[in-house]
Parts: sequence; structure tokens; C-alpha cells
Amino acid sequence: MAPKLVPVNDKRPALHHSGKRDPSQIRWVVLHSTEGGPNAAGAVSWFQNEECQGSTHLVVGMDGAFRCLPDDVEPWAAPGANLEGLHIEFAGNAHWHPGEWSKFGKTFDEAAALVAEWCYHYDIPAEFLDASKLHDPASKGVTTHAEVTEAFKKGDHWDPGKGFPMDSFLASVAKCLADYPAKPEPTPEPEPVHSTEPAPAAEVVGEAPAVEEAVPATLAPAEVAAVAGETLAAEAATPVDAKA
Ligand SMILES: [Zn+2]
Repeated sequence: MAPKLVPVNDKRPALHHSGKRDPSQIRWVVLHSTEGGPNAAGAVSWFQNEECQGSTHLVVGMDGAFRCLPDDVEPWAAPGANLEGLHIEFAGNAHWHPGEWSKFGKTFDEAAALVAEWCYHYDIPAEFLDASKLHDPASKGVTTHAEVTEAFKKGDHWDPGKGFPMDSFLASVAKCLADYPAKPEPTPEPEPVHSTEPAPAAEVVGEAPAVEEAVPATLAPAEVAAVAGETLAAEAATPVDAKA
């Protein structure tokens, strides 16, 4: 069965980033919450604001999924995990309890499908990495802004919060991943050709379609700007004791 591709509603570039990166450096998916929502459009607009000192690759909310930066651009998302991370923001709040997150329903499924696309194309397992594993230079997996903060001590963000249903989310990602075709074994270096036969044309190996090539759809309704204003400011104002 072909994997379900989630159309990304819109491409609305985030203003701040650190420029291009080598996609071979990518090894983590980092989950965030916008501290707004439940719609994503407000946060997407906030990432376009000069005053916003953050950015991300994707934002998902009840109004759909939005692409803010291409995968090969390093965002300002979580210090310590910007260069090696793909970052996705849920239009939710780190203080939400599991019951509040469960109202996301279809949004979770869409986010899981998008994360599965990343996992497939960048060979990232749908496995949780806690802070201790982030120090392993070979680690690959799914983590959170909170774990990045714990690992690298470069901020105080703790999203998407302890109420985020990580286990069920990762199970959904794994389920989506199971729909993808098995990847071919890495091709060995070709033998040098000594014959006078013309060399065969180079084989095109696994040209990974970028997630941002998803079908463009109609512009989602803009969300109230006030929601956007709360986005990262609220994260920054998070009480320290909430990390415990
Ligand atoms: Zn975050």
C-alpha cells in the first residue's frame, strides 16, 4: 500500500534561519508545541514576524500543515539541535494534559504521516531519544525540545510537555512507516570497467522527494493574530519548575 502523503497547506517562509545545511547531517526529528493553537496559521505568521526569534520546518494544527522552511535550511528552533534536526511544531501547549492533546485527533495522524516521511527519507527510526542519547554523535531518532534543552542546556523551553502522548504518536509514525517500500541495500562501489564496452548509464539511486513538494492546496484561513503573539513569548516565559 502506498504511504499516505499529507498535503502541506501552504509554503510561508519563516524569516529567520541560519542558511543552507548539508541534509546528510540530519539525524533527529524534534517535536515542539507553539504555545498557541489549536490552529497553526497564527504561529506560521509569527514566524514571519521580524520580532520572532525562532523558526521551524513544519507547523501542524487543526487547520492543516504548513511548510515554513525547506529541510535543507537550518532553523532557529532548538539551540543544540538546529543543525541536525528536522523541527515540527504542534499548535498546542506544553501544559496540556493528555486529554487535551487527544482532541487533536486527525491532526495527530497528519503529523505522524509527515514525520514518517522524514523518517523514511532520512533513515531516522521512529524511536524516542532522551537527553542522554542526544550526546551520542551517531544517535538517530525522534526527540523533543525539552530533551534538547536538558541535553545541551542552551535554553529553557520544555515543549511539547509531559502530557504529550509520545508513545501513541511514535506508534502512529511507525504504522505510517510500515506502508513505505523497503529501501534497497546500499549499493556497493561499482567495479572498475576494463572492457571496451560503453559504460552503462549511471543508475539513479533513491532521489528522495522533499516533503515540501507535497501538493499545494488552498490558503488556510488566517488565524487571529493575537494567538501568534503568544507563540514563543509564552514558551520563553515558562516557569522553570515546570521542567521537573
Ligand atoms: Zn520548542
